[in-house]
Amino acid sequence: MSDYASLNAAQLKELQTELLEKYNTYKQEGLKLDMSRGKPSPEQLNLSNGMLDVLTSNGTLKAADGTDVRNYGGLDGLPEAKDFFSQVLEVKPEEIIIGGNSSLNLMHDTIARAMLLGVYGSNAPWGKLPAVKFLCPSPGYDRHFSICELFGIEMIVVDMKADGPDMDHIEKLVKEDEAIKGIWCVPKYSNPDGITYSDEVVERFAKMETKADDFRIFWDDAYTVHHLTDEPDRLKNILAACKAAGNADRVFMFTSTSKISFAGSGIGVFASSVNNVNFIKKQLAMQTIGSDKINQLRHVRFFKNIENLKLHMKKQAEIIKPKFDTVLSKLESELGGKNIASWFKPNGGYFISLNTLDGCAKAVVQMAKDAGVTLTGAGATYPYGNDPKDRNIRIAPTYPSLEELEKAMEILCLCVQLVSIEKKLS
Ligand code: PLP
Repeated sequence: MSDYASLNAAQLKELQTELLEKYNTYKQEGLKLDMSRGKPSPEQLNLSNGMLDVLTSNGTLKAADGTDVRNYGGLDGLPEAKDFFSQVLEVKPEEIIIGGNSSLNLMHDTIARAMLLGVYGSNAPWGKLPAVKFLCPSPGYDRHFSICELFGIEMIVVDMKADGPDMDHIEKLVKEDEAIKGIWCVPKYSNPDGITYSDEVVERFAKMETKADDFRIFWDDAYTVHHLTDEPDRLKNILAACKAAGNADRVFMFTSTSKISFAGSGIGVFASSVNNVNFIKKQLAMQTIGSDKINQLRHVRFFKNIENLKLHMKKQAEIIKPKFDTVLSKLESELGGKNIASWFKPNGGYFISLNTLDGCAKAVVQMAKDAGVTLTGAGATYPYGNDPKDRNIRIAPTYPSLEELEKAMEILCLCVQLVSIEKKLS
């Protein structure tokens, strides 16, 4: 296992011939392996099958307050659903709006309404302003960036550090530029790095001075209960921190059960100050009479309470932890000590973030694709699909089987080595 920096051209060429032979053998196998999207595996989904008949087997289709869940009503959700998710997000039930089947949908619509109508405290709809800008800690979640692109919101890249985004940079930008209206954050087990923001980062977000009075933090806590260890990361409560700093209306929180129960048939949740919640509820009332209460009731009846939810997530972890371990041990055995790649070891979430040498990610992804391994497109983790260093690759280990993962990782590691050698020889 030698550091590539210590190899001369002849040694690199010899290694290249050896690795190419292995790569070509894989290529001839006509494989079809997919590590591109963070989808739960069928085994994970099976854990929630009990939800499919929990309502019929439990007799009543009435919520705790007597609401018939089969009928219209309940704009912000059933009381027991609000109660349940208020415990997940550690906020009050009146600070919650239960949405439909997707938190991404809630985020998209929140931006759309801000552009068309403004947010609580806006002087004008964002869309009427000469420019609207968002800060995008990167690498980040590609679909956040796509929403900005769709609405013509200019994206500014902010680097990720080991404890969250670069706060010095963020504080400087938001203090000076009135056009910066928001920031995307995945604060726990971030997509893709798996980083959890430190208390200091949360505090600085809550306290920072913003030139725009209606600045909002889009706090996408998608992986809040998705731990891979028995010693989970702790995330400081941003809404409480914002209240304490006198900026109670600054944060929009989002989460969902997409990777807890059923992806695409879960529950999306919004949480914020009562001012924001009331403001949005008035607008929401024009859009819907209320979200799917049958889905809300079956989720609450199935999960029962937070302790039970935690047990469910432990079962999820038992299924996916070996997959994360496979990816990490392959990275270590194939790329460790070679000085050609680095990666994060997450304590939770859905992804492993791999950084190649600068300028290599696109070529690695293409080379893997040619051998039948699909990865998230290189660059997708950056605004406009443009990773300025062309080095980040997002690995999604949850869906493939262990055997598939092992093979896919072998091929990916071969590609990283081959592209790195190419770069060093050029
Ligand atoms: N937010 C993050 C950070 C994600 O990684 C994902 C899915 O990968 C989502 C949101 C999508 O959530 P939902 O299914 O609730 O729309």
